[in-house]
Amino acid sequence: QEGAQKFDYQSDVARLRKIVINSLYSHRDVFLRELISNANDALEKLRLISLTDKQVLEGAEQMNITIKSWKEEDGSSRLYIRDTGIGMTPEELTENLGTLAKSGTSEFLAKAESTDTTGTGNLIGAFGLGFYSSFLVADQVYVTSVAAKSDKNPNPEQYVFSSSADDSTFEVYPDPRGNTLGRGTEITLVLKDDALEYVDTQKVTELVNKHSSFSTSFPIYLFTQRTEMVPIEEPQEEKTVTETAEAEDESPSVPEEKEELEESLDEEQPTVEEAFDDMMQKLEKEDEEKGIKTKPVIVDEWVHLNSQPPIWMRDPKTVTDEEYERFYQATFKDYEKPLSWHHFSGDSGSGVSFRAIIFIPSKLNDEYWTNPLLTSAKDVRLMVKRVFITNDLGEDALPKWASWVKVVVDAEDLPLNVSREMLQSNKFLRQLKSIITKHIIQTLHRISSEDDPEADEDKWEQISQAYNNVFKLGAIEDRKNREKLASLIRFHTNQGNSTTLDKYLEERKKGQKQIFYLADIGKTTDDLSKSIFVEKLHARGYQVLLLNDPLDEIFVQNIKNWKKIPFQDVAKAGLKFGDEDADPEEEKERQQVLTEQYKPLLEWLKKEAGEIVRDVVISNRLVTSPCAIVADTHGYTANVEKMINAQQS
Ligand code: ADP
Ligand code: MG
Repeated sequence: QEGAQKFDYQSDVARLRKIVINSLYSHRDVFLRELISNANDALEKLRLISLTDKQVLEGAEQMNITIKSWKEEDGSSRLYIRDTGIGMTPEELTENLGTLAKSGTSEFLAKAESTDTTGTGNLIGAFGLGFYSSFLVADQVYVTSVAAKSDKNPNPEQYVFSSSADDSTFEVYPDPRGNTLGRGTEITLVLKDDALEYVDTQKVTELVNKHSSFSTSFPIYLFTQRTEMVPIEEPQEEKTVTETAEAEDESPSVPEEKEELEESLDEEQPTVEEAFDDMMQKLEKEDEEKGIKTKPVIVDEWVHLNSQPPIWMRDPKTVTDEEYERFYQATFKDYEKPLSWHHFSGDSGSGVSFRAIIFIPSKLNDEYWTNPLLTSAKDVRLMVKRVFITNDLGEDALPKWASWVKVVVDAEDLPLNVSREMLQSNKFLRQLKSIITKHIIQTLHRISSEDDPEADEDKWEQISQAYNNVFKLGAIEDRKNREKLASLIRFHTNQGNSTTLDKYLEERKKGQKQIFYLADIGKTTDDLSKSIFVEKLHARGYQVLLLNDPLDEIFVQNIKNWKKIPFQDVAKAGLKFGDEDADPEEEKERQQVLTEQYKPLLEWLKKEAGEIVRDVVISNRLVTSPCAIVADTHGYTANVEKMINAQQS
């Protein structure tokens, strides 16, 4: 190409392209999702800038995505994916498509090369392979682009990036056709011989519905051809645009191929099937019988593929589970399905009404415990009147313990060009945070509660597995919601089951005035249940919470009692059973008699062990073990001492 600059791909890109081309054949459908996702990103960037700088909108009227498949005269089958987004300058074409700017992609590379290729399909979902997935289906790819107008770039020109699947180089050159796009980017895929299925509009529709209908709020139009019976007297040239009146003014401004338009059915049309022919003949005959002279004419149509309103705007009753799941996966780039979700509308209290969906992912982000700042609510997507504003509300969006929850919020009554500073000052964020937190907790309670018809034991099991420790952290950290979060926690007991604090109290023995627990980090619950501290309680049929997580003891020390019943460490003095047969006076007397009786032994023990214990007393807590070392009521337990020592060393 004249005036073309030739570049070598950065070496990482060359490696990536090889992996894409060689090993992802069975996942090649993803190319369309990736290209639509890029188109959406480009449109979002444009829309955001346009809020403060109107000139970027010049060049093309609409903000949309158009897809067209076409068989060219040279016999090649091509797929065009075009957007009227921010576009790229020639420098950006080189920079963005010729180098790996994104760390996520390099991470993908490392993983893809170290795992066998059967797993890479999931990796694509997780990292997003982006533009290079074009080469899964195309021998040759052209990216034609015109950047949006700006002060720096008042006369943007149309450039082409061109690369073939087996080259290690690419070219960038000024488009000899001049500026045909106005603004934005068009990806041209020259389809491989074995990828011709993608010229089929049926196939494209299916893919968009499956993977992309939720990934953009901009309209996606697909070029299709329909055969219509037209009275012969009437002019046969006809252009219809999409199905609804609303969609009509958003119709794409793509040049129409008028000549092809008027071709009749008699000529060879690869896209028209035989069955269809039959139908047309029948229609023709019917019209003939009625005395109307008609002729089949191929009519171009831009079909609006994602014409449904976004799912958060719909009535929850009309949204299927599968739609929620696909929306979640597309929006939050998770290849696992969410465990649960909650779709609601609300009012911030300061006059901002909004709609929201809360999603509970299948697992905690790996970084949650090690680097809480990294994960702090990056996944609250704020929209204003359907327009995406930001997914970076930072720490203001959710309490820290809940930073793993994924949320979409669409506010009705905020200005479109709202900034983060404005959000903070108009109280909206603070109110939103508290409302969403309330709904998160409600959702969790709904699933966990045994009385709720929507409760789901299996699901709760999964949620509990993934988030039990988060609830402890929440109860420690979030004073306002302490009770509600604490009541979600499940604890193992000496009776082999797991229980909540409420259930524990319900099942406690008559007269029992304490919640018994034994804490030792790192021990298994099995070890704990065999402890001598537990044995007497176990023999008498008491439940003892077995705590072996570092957060457990901190939690217990923080909340101190539950529904006014204090926690009691069974390894500490102060244990009261409450079910003693003897009356307390009698018991006390008995204790005195015993103390008197065993005085010589106690004194001998005190002398022998005086260095390591504070006191030696007669106990009624043991069944089979002759003695036990316990912590003072107000002293640290062995467990906490372990933690303190670990921190000091
Ligand atoms: P990612 O989208 O994750 O950044 P991609 O490989 O999909 O990675 O795209 C690489 C870059 O190329 C994008 O970050 C963007 O800067 C640019 N790009 C790709 N497609 C378009 C497009 N349609 N319009 C504008 N820029 C684009
Ligand atoms: Mg991308």
